[in-house]
Amino acid sequence: MTVLVTGGAGYIGSHVVAALARAGMRALVLDDFSNSSRAVMPRLERLAGTHVPLVEGDVRDATLLRDTFARHPISAVVHCAGLKAVGESGERPLAYWDVNVNGSFRLAEVMGEAGVATLVFSSSATVYGQPERLPVDESAPLKPASVYGRTKRTVEDFLRDLAASNANWRIAILRYFNPAGAHPSALIGEAPRGRPNNLVPFLCRTAAGEFPELSIFGTDYPTPDGTGIRDYLHVDDLAEGHVAALRYLADHAGALTLNLGMGRGFSVLEVVAAFERACGRSVTKSFAPRRDGDIACVYADPARAQRVLGWSTSRDLDAICADAWRWQAAGGGYEKG
Ligand code: NAD
Ligand code: UDP
Repeated sequence: MTVLVTGGAGYIGSHVVAALARAGMRALVLDDFSNSSRAVMPRLERLAGTHVPLVEGDVRDATLLRDTFARHPISAVVHCAGLKAVGESGERPLAYWDVNVNGSFRLAEVMGEAGVATLVFSSSATVYGQPERLPVDESAPLKPASVYGRTKRTVEDFLRDLAASNANWRIAILRYFNPAGAHPSALIGEAPRGRPNNLVPFLCRTAAGEFPELSIFGTDYPTPDGTGIRDYLHVDDLAEGHVAALRYLADHAGALTLNLGMGRGFSVLEVVAAFERACGRSVTKSFAPRRDGDIACVYADPARAQRVLGWSTSRDLDAICADAWRWQAAGGGYEKG
């Protein structure tokens, strides 16, 4: 079984490729390297213990997609390629709608032509906005507060329409909560360009001395310690959720929407404390105003994923921080490429 992983050179896609290899499945990467490095490929081959073929190009390029499906025995697709920065999405709505939405349209169109009907899609908990009830389950209303979130909701709607139109489709829409950490080998991990937006990469870079301090955005949220609460899950647990979804889709048609999270929330201060334990040093912190567009608190009800896929997280916050720090200590990135 060859699984096409779009965005397979990126943070989550690379861990999906490694998880597929652990499960005995072959991966084919399609990536334009707009937010990743070619240097990830030999590392993926080391982890997979085999050649990992690469198609370099844009997921919106229907000719390239047709050629890819013609040349490779693809039986399923994991669609991770996309743009993901919430703040940037408000400044570049055209790019976000084009890459995230048109990219998904083109991919589904060519999959239909090629007779490949199994698709796992990277969605996000950001589609919920601030939920009224916690933990949030998949039936909660969708109120995305950013351009990025609205592109994800739109692709979700499109994929559910597609599955309703033709019983051949087998689609899993995975709503990721807050993926963090890195592969324990420290061969692959999150390598954001420039100043990281996300908490764990920023902690890594600050502990390594690249930034003088961590700004904690908001200390007046209605949470026990006043800082924002999120559901962090280890990127390897998340990646294994994709393998579980592919196994499920092998004998179930239709569209399935699932939360992938640990099922509990941690505040910014709790994450900082866990990270300091993991790296054995303290991180200078300053208290800053709330970040625009942030919500107070969100964590998943992952019961459906547990029930349907038999999937749940097995790595805790300490493992997330230890693996993130090991990756940072090994350089925290890739050679230029
Ligand atoms: P990433 O930027 O590390 O990976 C995305 C990959 O897609 C990159 O390698 C990039 O080069 C590639 N790509 C971008 N545009 C492309 C295009 N037009 N054609 C081909 N390749 C293209 O991001 P990630 O964190 O690995 O996220 C993967 C997916 O998961 C995204 O769809 C993202 O929206 C979603 N997601 C991520 C998070 C998170 O916190 N990381 C949370 C929820 C959902
Ligand atoms: N956060 C912070 N300082 C940072 C980055 C993030 O205090 O430098 C907080 C942020 O306000 C939120 C939490 O950490 O409460 C997680 O933020 P991240 O950007 O990682 O995830 P998201 O907000 O997308 O869920």
